[in-house]
Amino acid sequence: MAAMATATAEALSPAAREFAQGGPQLLVIGGERVEAADGRLFETIDPATGEAICEVAFAGSEDVERATAAARAALDGPLRKVSPSKRAGLIYALAELIKANGEQLAELESLDNGKPLAAAKGDIAATVSHLRYYAGWPTKIEGETIPVSARDVLCYTVREPVGVCAQIVPWNYPLLMAIWKVAPALAAGCAIVLKPAEQTPLTALRLGELALEAGFPKGTLNILTGDGSTGAALVDSPAVDKVAFTGSTVVGREIGAKCGRSLKRLTLELGGKSPNIILPDADLDRAIPGSYQGIYSNSGQACNAGSRLYVAHELFDEVILRLASYAREAKVGPGLDPETEFGPLISEEQLERVRGYIDSGVADGAELVAGGASGDGNGAAGPAGGGYFVPPTLFTGVEDSMRIAREEIFGPVLVAMPFEELEEVAARANDTEYGLAAGLWTRDVSNAHKLAAMLQAGNVYVNTWGGGDPAAPFGGYKASGIGREKGHANLDAYLETKTVWVQL
Ligand code: NAP
Ligand code: MG
Repeated sequence: MAAMATATAEALSPAAREFAQGGPQLLVIGGERVEAADGRLFETIDPATGEAICEVAFAGSEDVERATAAARAALDGPLRKVSPSKRAGLIYALAELIKANGEQLAELESLDNGKPLAAAKGDIAATVSHLRYYAGWPTKIEGETIPVSARDVLCYTVREPVGVCAQIVPWNYPLLMAIWKVAPALAAGCAIVLKPAEQTPLTALRLGELALEAGFPKGTLNILTGDGSTGAALVDSPAVDKVAFTGSTVVGREIGAKCGRSLKRLTLELGGKSPNIILPDADLDRAIPGSYQGIYSNSGQACNAGSRLYVAHELFDEVILRLASYAREAKVGPGLDPETEFGPLISEEQLERVRGYIDSGVADGAELVAGGASGDGNGAAGPAGGGYFVPPTLFTGVEDSMRIAREEIFGPVLVAMPFEELEEVAARANDTEYGLAAGLWTRDVSNAHKLAAMLQAGNVYVNTWGGGDPAAPFGGYKASGIGREKGHANLDAYLETKTVWVQL
């Protein structure tokens, strides 16, 4: 039986402690908290200690059938009768409930994922604004009247919900990544089966409860916790009309291939190895802290992390010196400690993976100037004891061909390389299978727009990194994904268009 460390339990508010210690956390199917059909459970782990937080129900294929049937029943029944205005009100009510329960949700997120509490609070605030943005949409989903040339014909289009949606999300921004998918699906009038990552099931389960409290019909939002096999069973289910996935490119390709065969609708948000370019005239007082945040926030576990830094050769030494000193000063620790600026990695598996990349960089001849696999050399150290800590790590002496410069590490590892010319750096930046994000720092308006046009990426940041708003589309070129999330682009991804011909 799982039990939290006493010190961890004491750091939580009563509401968060009660949820985390309130016995096994069950699935949300058809408006009820239910055990898995076969009674299976798994433990969710606190990455700051390596100890179990609590047990969670493990959904298998029978639960996938139950949840998709509940979603279909909602869709064909009560959900269909909810007017656009009422739907807007329900989404808004969910936003307000998340805000009201913000402290509990942020603590659960910090506990389960490891991120600093302040960052978790930022995620919750972004979750609320996403719901508010999409609450504006149900009353504005319009068809068109089409001026067809056939005689005496009225032709018009209507937009209809795509149906039952399987939404599979990762562990890096657990609730926020869920809401990026849940909010537009609710706005479109769809029913949902959400599958959070096995590492971070807690806030998704609480979201399922809050959606019921907000008044959504039972079965509108079902939550299945489990692992990759639960996700795969959902993707395979004939009861699912659309799949939305965020995670690794490897799993994304597999899901894409399956949806190609079954012709399910699909959106994919996948990995990246995003280039960040500091031009010779950059304002370094903005570029250096901005680039630091661009790679190291969320302990480097962000799909749009600026993980390849290209610096104008004349600025290289100064930039490295200043970045390394920030890196060494980072306060590494458990997310729930108010002093912490930099939390652990999500899991032991991820710890080993990131350490493996650091070792490969050293073996390939790159120079470690901050951090490192043990963090005890010239980097900030993590706290003693268990926990999956790797401090902010910086490599120089890197060749574009090294694994650390080509592959997505998904950890706090930055590779820095000098460059000479604009065209040269654009070509090197684009020489990757990915195309999620790219950034550049300059005071020259002309170079800013020239380079922004040359970069093959779904998101280009100029003199900032990672700016985001629910209204602004987000997604990847090339192997970084298919489709766009946020904004009206993601609403479209949850709608079908029906063309009606009326012979008068
Ligand atoms: P992952 O395997 O792609 O997991 C993402 C989500 O997909 C999780 O909910 C996962 O469930 C589920 N899943 C796994 N296998 C599946 C399958 N065959 N069919 C359907 N769903 C499946 O990612 P990960 O293992 O957590 O991390 C591995 C690497 O992925 C990271 O190192 C990083 O490079 C990348 N990643 C990218 C993002 C991003 O935002 N683009 C986010 C996370 C990770 P379980 O976790 O419960 O198994
Ligand atoms: Mg966990």
